[in-house]
Amino acid sequence: MKYTVLGSGSCVPDPQKNSSGGLLEINGILMLVDCGTGVLHAIPRSGYDYKNIDVVCLTHLHLDHVNDFGALLFALSHDPECKRKKELLIIASKGFSQFYDNLKRLYGDTLENSFDVVVREMGNEDFDYGDINIQTLQTFHTENSIGFRFTYKEKVVCISGDTGYNDNIITLCKDADLAVLECSFPQKVHEGIHLNPLLISKILAKADVKKVLLTHLYPHTEDYPIIEYITREYDGDITIAQVGKSYTI
Ligand SMILES: [Zn+2]
Ligand SMILES: [Zn+2]
Repeated sequence: MKYTVLGSGSCVPDPQKNSSGGLLEINGILMLVDCGTGVLHAIPRSGYDYKNIDVVCLTHLHLDHVNDFGALLFALSHDPECKRKKELLIIASKGFSQFYDNLKRLYGDTLENSFDVVVREMGNEDFDYGDINIQTLQTFHTENSIGFRFTYKEKVVCISGDTGYNDNIITLCKDADLAVLECSFPQKVHEGIHLNPLLISKILAKADVKKVLLTHLYPHTEDYPIIEYITREYDGDITIAQVGKSYTI
């Protein structure tokens, strides 16, 4: 499994970070997990072909996670080089279908494609996509927001999306080889709907995670002693996400 960072920032414009997003490659299957502003254009810069994406996973409908989704569909229908026939599966939080219907109503046939788009809304459940088990649990960030756990041949990658501290995020991260966790703010800022280094430290220790990749960083976290706080309870591998970098487990 290989995870490539396409966006490590938040809704705040940043010359280096983009909004949220990453590409998870598992045995030749390409999954785009969140699709915030800047993520679509980061795909070719990271050496991938956006036309080959098999699955789009969306944790919730905040614009810093879905703003490039319409742009992706538009590109797939207007790129003269795109001869795609395979279906595109969208796995998203509940409420996505309404968002997608509204998007299609707004843009009409400019979003129509020559391949099928299949939508699967998920809450607290799991299913097998080929050999990959995909589990989602609610993250209590928005009413329907979800985090993802991908399992393939004993290897586990967890991607939190936006989340407060809760038991579900610990369950999603349990014994993960790689946990991609949001690290939005310093302590005491928007606690309950976002994580901070001290809360992350508790999650990682309880879940016994091997490696953590910190993402969704607001400017408030620059010059903040992130590593110092996380190592209070966690002694595993800590990396701060950088756009364009890949991590293989
Ligand atoms: Zn959010
Ligand atoms: Zn966000």
